[in-house]
Amino acid sequence: MSPHVGIDAADVVVVGGGASGLAAAIEAAAAGASVLVLEKNTAPGGSSRLSVGSINAAGSRLQQRAGIVDTPDEHFEDMDHFMGAFASKDNLALRRVLVDNAADTLHWLMSLGLSFYGPTADPPHRHPRMHNVLPNSRAYPYYLSKEAKRRGVRLVCGAEVLELLRADDGGVRGVAARVDGRRVEIVARRGVVLCAGDYSNGTEMKSRFRPELAAIRGVNPTATGDGHRMAEAIGARIVNGEVVYGPGLRFGAPDRPSLVQRLPPSWALGKLMSLALATLPAALFRPFVMSFMTASLGPEAALLKSGAVLVNRDGRRFVDEQQPPGLAIAAQPGGQAWLVFDDAVARRFSAPPHAVSTAPGVAFAYLPDYRRHRKDLYGTGETAEALAHAVGLPAEALEDALKDRAWRSPLHALGPLEARIVITDGGLAVNVSHQVLRADDSVIPRLYAAGAVGQGGALLAGNGHHICWAVTSGRRAGRLAANGAAA
Ligand SMILES: Cc1cc2nc3c(=O)[nH]c(=O)nc-3n(C[C@H](O)[C@H](O)[C@H](O)COP(=O)(O)OP(=O)(O)OC[C@H]3O[C@@H](n4cnc5c(N)ncnc54)[C@H](O)[C@@H]3O)c2cc1C
Repeated sequence: MSPHVGIDAADVVVVGGGASGLAAAIEAAAAGASVLVLEKNTAPGGSSRLSVGSINAAGSRLQQRAGIVDTPDEHFEDMDHFMGAFASKDNLALRRVLVDNAADTLHWLMSLGLSFYGPTADPPHRHPRMHNVLPNSRAYPYYLSKEAKRRGVRLVCGAEVLELLRADDGGVRGVAARVDGRRVEIVARRGVVLCAGDYSNGTEMKSRFRPELAAIRGVNPTATGDGHRMAEAIGARIVNGEVVYGPGLRFGAPDRPSLVQRLPPSWALGKLMSLALATLPAALFRPFVMSFMTASLGPEAALLKSGAVLVNRDGRRFVDEQQPPGLAIAAQPGGQAWLVFDDAVARRFSAPPHAVSTAPGVAFAYLPDYRRHRKDLYGTGETAEALAHAVGLPAEALEDALKDRAWRSPLHALGPLEARIVITDGGLAVNVSHQVLRADDSVIPRLYAAGAVGQGGALLAGNGHHICWAVTSGRRAGRLAANGAAA
């Protein structure tokens, strides 16, 4: 008998088992609904599991403990600093939902067992309000799945939702999915919550909204915009589809996670790390915390502004590093590049405030963190020739590439890195009750959306707003779907 027999109906069907989907499922179950989560991958987590995992929140208990007085209103205002050219397109009603609920979201996650370090400063936020998940972002699916199970939620992995089924009133009556290679129709008595993530690796969607980025792969290969596509097919519309983060530069995630990195992100481990961060000197806790780093990190543009150059696999320079280099990197052999810099730059990026990357747990990673924990990405040498040998690039070409100026030795390199789309902000139009809207702004009955697919035009630039939105909107949408109500 199929292990998935008996999944023909539930009160609430959730599409996707990332942070938003699991949060929606937990709250729907807490509201008394029977809940089924359909996840196309073999394990839950989605982009939430690949993320750095930070959450920006104002008014948290961790802030209060640190003597920081902060308010959602200040957080709301500070988000203006991140919007750039897209500022006028933001959905301010949803930004309000985010900032007003952010601290509660964080506390709820902590009540489920997640641990956070912080708050750490993250300018231009005026107060330290970045909370960093410990030991890494695998903690999101780990704890959320555990709570979902405790609440009686049925999570079926390897179940790809194909389309939304329409009811006679124009609303949604369920979904069609592929489970065990068979198409099955599943009735959602109270509603469907779409939580299928973004389209950072969705070629069709990117071709439509940002054709120049269509060929650039997403960090998450299965973030293909399925939820957007299914909802559009029944009359929903997408807002801010052109807001795509990237191409950003990303180092590959570690090839083989170490034993330590494969440890379950248990409560005890989180508490041990919190304790280490609170009590040990930085020189002792950093190596401990960094050894759990699993996310795919990206170098800050400041490295290039400070004098680092980019070379390709042939050891040649190929771009003006003062311009965004993503598209040029994608066009190089193997789509790869290496950052090369001298010792002056290396020293600068070895301590605050000049980080190489934002990073889980410790918030920021510096060059010594890479030297120690990502030996696969780091090389050094007294001369260009020695550096070329250390990182496997052609020596003659590298010598030629670096001869335009005096370099202070030793020389350093980080790579390979690739150009990737990290996040997309285009979401289905939704109201503040997370109900999906048609082109004329009417509600599609019984269809809700949360997380990236339910972003509704909210712009979440800056660190720590996306996961917070995923969990906040997921919880709300799950509750509202279970109650068949609007906020
Ligand atoms: C490298 C990286 C670093 C990041 N760092 C941060 C950070 O520090 N802080 C922050 O706030 N944000 C960060 N983000 C962004 C953040 O991770 C995402 O915006 C957020 O996790 C999205 O959550 P979600 O639940 O909407 O989607 P996801 O977590 O992607 O979950 C969607 C799920 O739906 C499933 N699914 C999709 N289609 C179907 C289908 N047809 N049928 C069934 N299941 C389906 C997917 O497999 C997936 O499991 C980062 C993202 C990346 C890639």
